[in-house]
Parts: sequence; structure tokens; C-alpha cells
Amino acid sequence: RQGWLDRLKAGLRKTGSSLATVFTGTQIDDALYEELEEALLMADTGVKATEHLLKDLKRRVKEAKTTEPGQVKALLAEAIADLLRPLEKALVIGEFTPTVIMVAGVNGAGKTTSIGKLTKHLANEGASVLLAAADTFRAAAREQLGVWADRNTVEIVSQEGGDPAAVSFDAVTAGKARGKDVVLVDTAGRLPTQLHLMEELKKIKRVVTKADGSAPHEVLLVIDGNTGQNALAQVRSFDDALGLTGLIVTKLDGTAKGGVLAAIAQERPIPVYFIGVGEKLEDLETFNAREFAQALLS
Ligand code: GDP
Repeated sequence: RQGWLDRLKAGLRKTGSSLATVFTGTQIDDALYEELEEALLMADTGVKATEHLLKDLKRRVKEAKTTEPGQVKALLAEAIADLLRPLEKALVIGEFTPTVIMVAGVNGAGKTTSIGKLTKHLANEGASVLLAAADTFRAAAREQLGVWADRNTVEIVSQEGGDPAAVSFDAVTAGKARGKDVVLVDTAGRLPTQLHLMEELKKIKRVVTKADGSAPHEVLLVIDGNTGQNALAQVRSFDDALGLTGLIVTKLDGTAKGGVLAAIAQERPIPVYFIGVGEKLEDLETFNAREFAQALLS
């Protein structure tokens, strides 16, 4: 398990090396800040978060009376960590039986894999989990979720060609009846063209509330950490439609640029409950702003 931070660092290496070259000069001048601006934008940090970070960094440099470019890097790490800190939050279960967690995300983001990993994480904490296969449009999605259910030896509510909202309703009802600690609802990431994804997801949410007045207790969005500003656009639209309570950011072990988290922190500070750092069941880690900022600059 030790290796995950190295995988995160390796995944963010490109960003790290382009940021590192900024600090190799001899002076702290406009050229340094311009290079830094460029490197942050290249790392998917976005215009607003980049502006914020530069302003914050300049203040820190002035306050610390720093004259060495090399020391600016450490101050930038602090600025990034402070920006990301509001995203640090633990997923808490136990207040409700079951805690109903709806999981959304566009196809390919790593939603099904993340649900498998999350199931294991929750099981490790001693929670009983029931999975709901509410992506009834793709047979493959249902089958894949079934594989993760088997790997974790948990029950799954699934119905071939059924209505997604009906499957979700049944799962929440079953979860209550069977005294499960958590019901994880897997939703579709794409629909047949005549249907509107957000409307379908909103319907699932409404129907889940009908099955249990306080549910869903969490609405999570899974985003691919490699997709940069696209991921930010997804956060905006899913949050507008569903009211997100948390994020899972996947594939940060790959060739992710990482800056998108700063952009999210700036625009929609929704908690990052977990990050994905590999394809295996155990490759899910809690998000730590300081660790992440350091990995970004290493
Ligand atoms: P879905 O369409 O959103 O359900 O996506 P999947 O869960 O099927 O994942 C799509 C691909 O991304 C699969 O090949 C996964 O193994 C891979 N994947 C998911 N999460 C991670 C991650 O954190 N790191 C890496 N390297 N690959 C991941």
C-alpha cells in the first residue's frame, strides 16, 4: 500500500517537471511568474485558480521576504495545499441505515471500478453493502457491476432491461428490509439518444427519496483526473442537476495533470472523498491536500 503515493507522484510527473523548471532561475521576477502562470494553466488549473494562486503566492513571497526562486516552490506548495484543503472531507456512514449513496459519472470515468473499490473500502470498515445496478441501458454495465459484487461477495439488485428508477427504488427498499449499512446505486453514464441523462438521474434521485425520505444521503460524481477542464465542466453540470455531495477523482496514477483539483476547489469546492490511483480493488485513497500539493510539485 505504501506505493500509492509514488504512483500519484509518477502520474503527476509531467506537471511536476514543468513546474520545477520555473524555479531554476536566479531571480524572482515577472518572467518567473509568467512561466509559472503558463505551467499552471498547462496543468489544467484553469484561469481563475491560476490567478488566485499567483496572487496568493506573491503575497507569501513578500511576507516571507523570500529572494531565492528555489524557496518559492515551497511557498507555492503551501498556497496549493491551502486552496485544496476545503476539499478534504471523509465520507461518513452510520447515521442512517442504510446510507444511500448515488454514484454518477460519464462513461469511462471509472465509475464502476470506483464502486467496486468503494465497496471494498466500506466492507473493510465493517459495513454491509448492497449494490444497485441502475444502469439498465447497457447490459455490459450490469454484468461488470456483478463482477465487482462477486469479488466483494456482496448482494446486488439488478434487473435486465428494467427501469433505472424502479431498480433504485427496489434496492433502497431491500436495503432497509435487510438492514444493510450502505446501498450504492450505480447509474448510467450515457443513455440512448432520445433520453436525457440529467432528467433520468434526477428521476432516480426523486424515486430514491420516495423509498426513503432522507435518501439519497450522498450524491457522488466520479471524474477522470486526466480530462482536465472537461472534468470541471462535468462537475458543474452534474452539480447543477443533482446537488453533488462528493467527488471521486480517478486515474491520478496515469498521466494526470492534477491542476483540475485546484480549479474545482476554486469554483465548486465539493469534497473529494477519494482518489483513484490504480486499477486494482485496493487502489482507492483518501484525499489529503498537503500530500497532493507536494506530489504535484515533486
Ligand atoms: P465507467 O465506464 O465509468 O464505469 O468506467 P470503468 O470503471 O469501466 O473504468 C474505465 C477504465 O478505467 C477501466 O479500464 C478501468 O480499469 C480504468 N480505471 C478506473 N479507475 C482507474 C484508476 O484510478 N487508475 C487507472 N490507472 N485506471 C483506472
